[in-house]
Amino acid sequence: MVRYIHAATLSMLLLVALTFANMSYADMLPPTDAAIEEELEGLLNESDYEASLVRLLELHESTSEQTPVMTRIRLLGYIASNHHYNKRPEQAQDYLQQMKALAQRSGLPDALAETGGTEIYILLLDNKVSEALAILNDALVPVEQATMPRVKYFVHNLAAYVYSARSQFAAALEHLIYALDAISGTNTERTILRQASLKLRIANIYNQQKSYDLALEQLDDLEVRTAELPNAKAYLVEVTFQRGVIETARENYDAALAHYAQVKKLIADDPDYQSTYLTVLNNIGDIDMKVRDFAGARQAFDEAYAIAKLNNDEFNETIIRFNLGFIEVYEGDYANGLSKMLEIVELARAKWAPVETEALLGEYAEALGIAGNYQEKAAILLEQRELRDQIYKAEQQKSVAELQNLYDSKDKAQQILLLEQKNELNQQLIQNQEQKRTILLLLVVVALFGAVLVFMLYRSARRSNQELKVANVKLAEQSIRDPLTGLLNRRALQNKLNDQHDAQGDAMILLDIDHFKRINDNLGHAVGDDVLLEVSKRLLEVSRDSDLVVRWGGEEFLIYLSSTEQKRLPALTARLLAAISEKPIQSGDKELHVTATAGFICYPFADLNENQMDWEDTLQLADMVLYAGKVHGRNQAWGVMALNVPFAEAQPLLETDLPAAIDQGMLSVEVVHGPKVPSYKA
Ligand code: GH3
Ligand code: MG
Ligand code: MG
Repeated sequence: MVRYIHAATLSMLLLVALTFANMSYADMLPPTDAAIEEELEGLLNESDYEASLVRLLELHESTSEQTPVMTRIRLLGYIASNHHYNKRPEQAQDYLQQMKALAQRSGLPDALAETGGTEIYILLLDNKVSEALAILNDALVPVEQATMPRVKYFVHNLAAYVYSARSQFAAALEHLIYALDAISGTNTERTILRQASLKLRIANIYNQQKSYDLALEQLDDLEVRTAELPNAKAYLVEVTFQRGVIETARENYDAALAHYAQVKKLIADDPDYQSTYLTVLNNIGDIDMKVRDFAGARQAFDEAYAIAKLNNDEFNETIIRFNLGFIEVYEGDYANGLSKMLEIVELARAKWAPVETEALLGEYAEALGIAGNYQEKAAILLEQRELRDQIYKAEQQKSVAELQNLYDSKDKAQQILLLEQKNELNQQLIQNQEQKRTILLLLVVVALFGAVLVFMLYRSARRSNQELKVANVKLAEQSIRDPLTGLLNRRALQNKLNDQHDAQGDAMILLDIDHFKRINDNLGHAVGDDVLLEVSKRLLEVSRDSDLVVRWGGEEFLIYLSSTEQKRLPALTARLLAAISEKPIQSGDKELHVTATAGFICYPFADLNENQMDWEDTLQLADMVLYAGKVHGRNQAWGVMALNVPFAEAQPLLETDLPAAIDQGMLSVEVVHGPKVPSYKA
């Protein structure tokens, strides 16, 4: 399957995140040791992790209780990470513990946030996304109060990474925006680098969402900027790699192979890019399989497998084993191939992100098809579809689009800021006094213009943020409420009842307006709507706050009552009927007499457990007696009160012929009548 280069992206993320110089807001920030911090910045450019670790440990030796906490925290974090790079997880954990102890002793939000972030970062290096997600709040909570841009950027960027790996794209983008906010307060040559890194992350998210055009837009934009970047190579590799992924997804295999070949050329023999190299091989093998070049595929996978083994990279080892299993299936060895693949599918279900599992399932289904096992294939495809639905929920995409707008406007605002700062710099270099005056004037104009623009952009960003919040609240409301009456909708109740497992002494009253079609036909839909609205209002008025009043269908309502004694149910239902029909309903200048017919029942019914009769089966009984009420003249309610024979005996008849079940005394029913008013007549 096609892989994204998480590992490479992540190391770049760290590089960018940690290379943060301490800039403005100096007085609000916790103190740091300038000399050590400067050396730490320099060490980040060091690609020999062993060498930098030696220096980091020396620096650590040189610190004391007098060294500012944040500098010690940063040092410990770098040491822990470096130990991890150097494949010494125990030492990494050891330093992480020291870091935690120091952060807790200091109580500094920045220290706590950086510590949480480092722990998450180390988990992510091992691709332990679930574990990282589980402790995300250890970093997100303290970062709320953190003041150091470096720390804020680090933590939010990590959060974005975790969320996007978990397919929560809206949350991911939100944190990317926070990360962007954090770098707004700074302006170093690194700012542009950090912006580029964020752009890459956005492209990655679009990519995972299969919005390829949008992803390409980001990549094009980024590629133009790469020339200005200090680590142009890393970005070029990443951009080209992502192009390969996109072209593969679009089935332009030759183009994809060309991009991958270019990546290989860029990184061949570079030890920093081993994991990228492995991923590229893996993806090349994947394409070879698609074009049925099995020899080529085996060659690529074997080479990749060797690298994975060498690096103890279990995750990739697993994927390669899956692919090798697939080749076996292609070559006709179904039993062996499929069992290898299934083993990994099971692992993925338990541990992997939905996006990855979804892709895996697709390939497993394909293999099952090749082996002629269509039944299993269908089941897997169904599972895949469900996962996909989960990933691409329309609402989620909507908020992604909106957040993207917000991101764009902030990104632009920041570019303007940079431009302004450049202007100021040029101005200092101008010697000629006369010219300086005119240029100064011009600068004021430019700066004013820029400031106004920035202000407007920020305002619109803030506004759209607020609108987004409102829209999201509305969206959530809408999904559970019926738009006409404002009552809960069917889905809301279904969700609630399907989540609840301990119904006790509840009851349901299903209610259907009589001859409603006539009202629509004779007086028009608008009058019909008025009636529905008024009926809803009256139902709400007479029911308790704890009852759920649901618009069940067109002119059907369901009242779900918790903790209600059965003996009170007939009277309660009678009250509902009366509320609807006692007073005529006003619509415009017309007065309508409206009645309703109801069915009621307790849930659980007759002490049957959920497996024998769940809430939907129970409701169906109420629906059936409601129908009996219609047949017997409407404006009345029928209630199912008791089951007089063992359930197993009654069951067949309950499902097929309720009147017969009542006639034979298997069920006891009780009938209550509505007020003596006429039903609606034309
Ligand atoms: P009965 O007494 O047997 O229940 O007869 P009825 O006419 O009420 O039953 P039927 O189910 O045949 O008709 C229900 C009608 O309700 C049909 C449908 O057009 C109408 N309806 C459903 N939803 C709405 C709505 O939102 N507004 C309006 N005005 N009418 C609706
Ligand atoms: Mg109806
Ligand atoms: Mg009706």
